[in-house]
Amino acid sequence: MQNLRKIIKQNSFIDLGKGFYSNQVQEPLNEPYIVHLNNQFLNDLGLSSISPKQLMDLFNGTIQIPNNQIISMNYAGHQFGQYVRQLGDGRGILIGEINKNNKKLDIHVKGSGKTKYSRFGDGRAVLRSSLREYLCGEAMHFLGVPSSRSLMIFSSKDPVYREKSEDAAMIARTALTHIRFGNFEKFFYDNEQKKHQKLCDYVLSEYFPKEAGKSDKYEYLLNTIISSTAKLIARWQAVGFCHGVMNTDNMSILGETLDYGPYGFMDKFNPSHVCNLSDTSGRYSYENQPYIGLWNCSALAHTFSKIVDKPLLKKILSSYEIEYAESLFDLYKNKLGLKNNLETDQDLIQELLNIMKIERLDYSRTFRSLSNVIKENNSIRLNPVLNEWAVKFTKRHKEEQTDITSRINLMNNNNPKYILRNYLLQIAIDKAEEGSFEEIDNLMHIIKNPYDEMPDYEKYAKESPDWAADIGLSCSS
Ligand code: AMP
Ligand code: MG
Repeated sequence: MQNLRKIIKQNSFIDLGKGFYSNQVQEPLNEPYIVHLNNQFLNDLGLSSISPKQLMDLFNGTIQIPNNQIISMNYAGHQFGQYVRQLGDGRGILIGEINKNNKKLDIHVKGSGKTKYSRFGDGRAVLRSSLREYLCGEAMHFLGVPSSRSLMIFSSKDPVYREKSEDAAMIARTALTHIRFGNFEKFFYDNEQKKHQKLCDYVLSEYFPKEAGKSDKYEYLLNTIISSTAKLIARWQAVGFCHGVMNTDNMSILGETLDYGPYGFMDKFNPSHVCNLSDTSGRYSYENQPYIGLWNCSALAHTFSKIVDKPLLKKILSSYEIEYAESLFDLYKNKLGLKNNLETDQDLIQELLNIMKIERLDYSRTFRSLSNVIKENNSIRLNPVLNEWAVKFTKRHKEEQTDITSRINLMNNNNPKYILRNYLLQIAIDKAEEGSFEEIDNLMHIIKNPYDEMPDYEKYAKESPDWAADIGLSCSS
């Protein structure tokens, strides 16, 4: 246990004291077994010196680090636009923190049993949803999208009842923080201004120590949260990712993607795509995500209204749209292999997206195919509906100063060949539910190398089959 203590430290969130969290006793799963280990990441964190079994026992709760407090966080949030006063980590616990390149990372376990904040929930997670979260955290990371990351997934025959009885599972993940917009909302709406400010000061001293002593520190904090959120959502849009449940309790204050539920990567491009069956009004559709990001930032900014002047709040909020638009523009420029900025570039991008929408072209495959357009003697044919646009695109490339190889590389490093499509996940889940886990290895391989050409994995780069359209995802997890 000593070796564990050397690597995993007490989570500093406990310094905040009463009201911010509750102490937690884990409820271990019976006869747990490892479904998958993220060896490379465990190694990066210095955790590979600990046996997988010992790590699983720690995450499951059958062994503890001496004198280590395990906690679940207290927060509120706007869910589908409605304020809910008491949420909190209903099935998640903070085990501790770990250092990576002088940055601290939270270690969090999901599915660990009831907490003070479980409300009507059982505190558990099922294998299906845990696997989805486990894989997507890594997929996003390797696509360059800030995200929680996955350490390990384990399961047990312990039954969990959703629409039917399913096997329980837990995942261990890391994130820069698990503090959400909802942690601030909780104290604001409970009229606990001192706690709100204490939380601001904690975040500043933990993550922005250089700013913590300055007189405009709260403006800075809000500004940086809003800016990282705008940039994050631009990245989601660029890779065609739909989060599915953009409630303020799922929004990290450090701009990382958190809490993967009924998410989806876009197959055929459809801006009004809604990936979550429980989202009947389409609030969290793909095209709404940037606006909801702003809505969520406004909800957060409102909680700063006692410590930041109103005109300044407005000004900070108004930076979101600019930051978002600039980030998205840069990302699309990379996807098109363009470095120079021309006035017509915005139209060129929009025209392409319009054709993709009308013709229902596959989002990732269409972008990936674009580098063929500018290759000389290219043999691979582009979808004919893009011919007219391709002429403009080729002409536009002639106005670039960079050489063709670097333009092709730019495109291929920004247009993934491999995407964690829902149908691929579904196949891996079906196999895992039957006790066979090798498909998880295959998916791990493609998501860790999304931009590479890998002839042995060609079938994973195909368009989704028709049956994929029938995969329904809801909040059930
Ligand atoms: P989510 O939509 O998964 O982000 O969850 C919203 C809230 O419900 C959070 O406070 C979760 O921790 C909690 N929650 C979700 N599922 C469960 C569960 N099975 N048991 C207890 N709490 C849960
Ligand atoms: Mg959540």
